[in-house]
Amino acid sequence: MEQIGFIGLGIMGKPMARNLLRAGFPLTVYTRNQATVAEFVEQGAKGARNPREVAEQSTVVITMLPDSPEVQEVALGPNGVIEGIKPGSLFIDMSTIDPAVARAVHAAFAERQVEALDAPVSGGQIGAEQGTLSIMVGGSEAAFERARPIFQVLGKNITHVGGPGAGQVAKACNQMVVALTIQAVAEALTLAARAGVDPARVRQALLGGFAHSRILEVHGQRMLENAFTPGFRARLHRKDLRIALNLGREFATPLPATAHVATLFDSLIANGGAELDHAALALVYRTLTGEGTTATEHSATA
Ligand code: NAD
Repeated sequence: MEQIGFIGLGIMGKPMARNLLRAGFPLTVYTRNQATVAEFVEQGAKGARNPREVAEQSTVVITMLPDSPEVQEVALGPNGVIEGIKPGSLFIDMSTIDPAVARAVHAAFAERQVEALDAPVSGGQIGAEQGTLSIMVGGSEAAFERARPIFQVLGKNITHVGGPGAGQVAKACNQMVVALTIQAVAEALTLAARAGVDPARVRQALLGGFAHSRILEVHGQRMLENAFTPGFRARLHRKDLRIALNLGREFATPLPATAHVATLFDSLIANGGAELDHAALALVYRTLTGEGTTATEHSATA
């Protein structure tokens, strides 16, 4: 059985690592917050003091970190995974990062006879807890097959998208669809209210029809309840749109709707909403229409 190392125990990493432990995989963990490491040690995992130590104990190392700089630091920096990992091991980054950085990570590990996969996920905190994430994988077929039993513990819709970086390209596409749909749901529910119709009933009426989506279901409900505790932090979604817009520039592909929603995220973040759930995008739109509270007011009262 693979010895798994897991680095980055935040909103997503914590339930993912817990599911691997429950499935019986020997697990070594590291994250910035040592209290979280201690929590896992109590549940039967081994704790490590840095990413190098995790790699020394593992045949497969998984990272679930915020952004490209953290993945570069943890994977390739001083006391990083690359210093401890043995030839023949597998490195899997499940964070959402720039595809170019993912490809550089693949190349750096290849020099040490270590295969890598970029395997970002969709499905949010609920999907992580329930082991129902969608997993989008870039890398070789052999590495994908080796990782499959691990992915099957974490997710349901597991797709080998293509070579190094392809998983991250798929995830950027995913985040465009999610962002634009959040904005669509915010506009629709706000319009309903202003037209004198109960937005909760409108959401109910739309569920199951052609406009049905998980975003209408979960984030529509969040908007109705003003429940913006993350979930998925707005600043992380803005990061994902930056990745998508950079890809658009690289491949001369205009992304007008994505660019527009990215500026609305900028407004949310500039008004104090960086750490709110991304469904708080609705607050920006509501202020445009003179409805509801601003992100600043919401953060002050939350
Ligand atoms: P988070 O901020 O809750 O967790 C990140 C974790 O990484 C934290 O525990 C932090 O302490 C740790 N960390 C940061 N830098 C570190 C370092 N240098 N060394 C060790 N640990 C470090 O973020 P999250 O919501 O869990 O998201 C993680 C990744 O998954 C991001 O790339 C995000 O875009 C992506 N993602 C998130 C969601 C979601 O719904 N939250 C869904 C899909 C994908």
